[in-house]
Amino acid sequence: MAILVTGGAGYIGSHTVLILLKYGIEVVILDNLCNASHKIINRLEKITNKKLIFIENNIVNRICLKNLFKKYDISTVMHFAALKSINDSLHQPLLYYSNNVTGTIILLEEMLSANIRNFIFSSSATVYGIDSPIPYCETNSIGHTTNPYSTSKLMIEFIIRDFVKVNPSFKAVALRYFNPVGAHESGELGENSTGVPNNLLPYIAQVALGRLKKLNIFGNNYNTPDGTAQRDYLHVIDLAEGHLNVLNHLPKIKGYKVYNFGSGKIFSVLEVIKIFEKISGKKILFEYKPRREGDLPSFWADTSLAKNELGWQAKRDIYTMIRDMWNWYIKNPNGLN
Ligand code: NAD
Ligand code: UDP
Repeated sequence: MAILVTGGAGYIGSHTVLILLKYGIEVVILDNLCNASHKIINRLEKITNKKLIFIENNIVNRICLKNLFKKYDISTVMHFAALKSINDSLHQPLLYYSNNVTGTIILLEEMLSANIRNFIFSSSATVYGIDSPIPYCETNSIGHTTNPYSTSKLMIEFIIRDFVKVNPSFKAVALRYFNPVGAHESGELGENSTGVPNNLLPYIAQVALGRLKKLNIFGNNYNTPDGTAQRDYLHVIDLAEGHLNVLNHLPKIKGYKVYNFGSGKIFSVLEVIKIFEKISGKKILFEYKPRREGDLPSFWADTSLAKNELGWQAKRDIYTMIRDMWNWYIKNPNGLN
C-alpha cells in the first residue's frame, strides 16, 4: 500500500514525503511542477537513497488519476497540490478556483470510483476569516475570508464535509496550517520560491542575501506590543511529522475531522527580524509601509485538539526554524531553478 502525495514536489509536500519515507511508508508523488522543480525529486532521492515514483501531471487530469489508481495500490491521498499566493489569487480568481476547488472535486470523484477512502487535505488558518476570536479553535465558525485563495480552501472544506456525509465509509481530515517556515536540517530541502516572495521569512532571507534592498513592514500601528503584526510560526518538519500522526490516527477517525496545525506561540514582524539578525549575523534594512490589504493584527492556534487526539504538538522553536531556513538559503542561494 502506498500514499499518493499530490503536490509532493512542493515545499510542505516534499518535507512530508521525506518523513513518510523515513518511516518506511511507500509514496507516489503527483505534481505538475507549476511551482516546483524536478530537482526536489532528485534531492529527495539523494537524502533517502531511494528511487521515488514521481508522476509529472495535473490533478485535474482524470485519465492520469484513473491510470495511477489502477497501477498503484493507494490507501490514502495526502492532498497538498494547490496554488497558494494570496496576492495572485486576487488577480486570477478563476485560476485559483479551478485549480484548487475543481482539482479537489475531480480528485475526490476519482478516489470514490477507485474505492480509495482516506483523504488528508492541506487547509489553512485563513479559513477562520476576519471575525474569528483568537486563539483560533476548531469549533470557531469559519468564513468571511478576504481573498480567493482562502475562499478556495473554505469551499473545499465545505465540499469535503458534505461529500463525507453521504459517503460514510470515507475518512477525511482537513489540517488548518498556520505559518509554516524552516527547512530540512540537511539544507538539501527548503522552500524553493521563485520571484519576489510574498511571505515574511523568504523575503527577509532575500534581503540578507543582497537580492532585495530592504524589507517593507506592512503596518506598525496594529494593536500589538510593538505595533507590528504577530503570527504563529511552525517548523515545516513539525508540520510534516504531524501528517504521520494523522495517518496513524486514521483508523480511529470516523467521517470528517479538522485539526489546527500551529505552534500556539506568536512572534511579531520586529521580533522575527531581530532573531533572524542574531542567527545570520546580517542586518536587515526595513521601512514601514501601510498595512497589507486583508492582513490581520494577530492570530494563533489553539493546539489542544491535535495534542489530545493525535498526540502531536510542535517541538521546534523559532530559533530552529530560522536557523534551518537560513542554512537552506546559504546552501542554495539561487534556489533550485
Ligand atoms: P507549494 O506551491 O510549494 O506546493 C504545492 C505543489 O503543488 C507545487 O509543487 C505545485 O507544483 C503543485 N501543484 C499545484 N497545482 C497543481 C495541480 N493542479 N496538479 C498537480 N500539482 C499541482 O506550496 P506549499 O507551501 O507546499 O503548500 C502546500 C499546501 O499547503 C497547499 O495546499 C497550500 O495551500 C497549503 N498551505 C500552505 C501554507 C504555506 O504558508 N506554505 C499555509 C497554509 C496552507
Ligand atoms: N509581512 C511584512 N512584509 C513582507 C511580508 C510579510 O511585513 O514583505 C508581514 C505581514 O504583514 C504579516 C506577517 O509579516 O503580518 C506574516 O506574513 P506572511 O505573508 O509570511 O504570512 P500571512 O500574512 O499569510 O500570515
